[in-house]
Amino acid sequence: MASPLSSLKVQAPAKLNIRLKVTGRRPDGYHDLVSIMVPVSLYDIIELATVESPGIRLSCQASAVPEDQTNLVFRAAQAFFLRCGLQKGISIKLTKHIPVAAGLGGGSSDAAHTLLALNRMWSNPLTLDDLAEMALALGADVPFFLHNMPCIARGVGEILHPIANWPILWYVIVSPPISVSTSWVYQNLRLRLTTDEYAHIMYFLEKKTLDLGTLLENDLETVTVPHFPVIGSIKESLMNAGAEGALMSGSGPSVFGIFKTKDRALAAKRHLGPRNFGEVFVVETYCSEAVVSVT
Ligand code: ATP
Repeated sequence: MASPLSSLKVQAPAKLNIRLKVTGRRPDGYHDLVSIMVPVSLYDIIELATVESPGIRLSCQASAVPEDQTNLVFRAAQAFFLRCGLQKGISIKLTKHIPVAAGLGGGSSDAAHTLLALNRMWSNPLTLDDLAEMALALGADVPFFLHNMPCIARGVGEILHPIANWPILWYVIVSPPISVSTSWVYQNLRLRLTTDEYAHIMYFLEKKTLDLGTLLENDLETVTVPHFPVIGSIKESLMNAGAEGALMSGSGPSVFGIFKTKDRALAAKRHLGPRNFGEVFVVETYCSEAVVSVT
């Protein structure tokens, strides 16, 4: 089977966890959670092109990102060709803009968008259910990125309920240059009894105006904030800069503040400038098709 498309360029967005509640621990070490996940307009770029000789060739200039079989893009491409029984040649160029290991889901998004792109290049041999199954095998956050829209995620992240009426909001993301191990965070988490989180979230989403102050909560902050005071300092600075609310995303260390307008978000970025916390991005809710160009 020849690919009808010889090249495709897609953008893979970052995500923010607007709410993250850990509801249980599984025997296999994974955790059950309920989370509101929102894709935002900070993207990695993935450029794919068919080549004559079979095999996957990946290039990525970012220093902290592997170019071999451990890269999630490589693993996604490998899984796609295996599942489709194809022995094809593909060259993939990954340009990272999403900070690595920052709680913003960059690797997971790259993996999901590689699956979507290859499926499109070969005229959709796989259904969304097939892709979702493969995505979950690549990582708990990967299935979310197949949707490109805000979702409530449950299970380990694979049960997804799209949120159609998520408001257009602006976010200031601050990524401090510290490394926080996701497994360390979960190992040190004291599970607390939670109420019916899903019903709780649905109740808030059905209200006319979103009460962000009540919605913003991340259980993983109970582990990270005491160990990394800079996370608390960034939250405080974002609030002082006029944010509607501020929270750590995923297992950190990135922190975001929410703003109702772009101007307020840009003003907050300026306000934060002298503090030199790390990389700062002003982004908005992303909800769209990922394709940038097709040939
Ligand atoms: P997690 O919480 O799962 O660690 P994250 O969003 O915080 O997710 P990522 O940017 O996905 O972190 O990177 C996690 C690790 O995955 C990095 O240490 C990196 O070496 C490895 N990795 C593999 N493939 C990729 C990729 N395509 N982009 C970024 N990192 C990747």
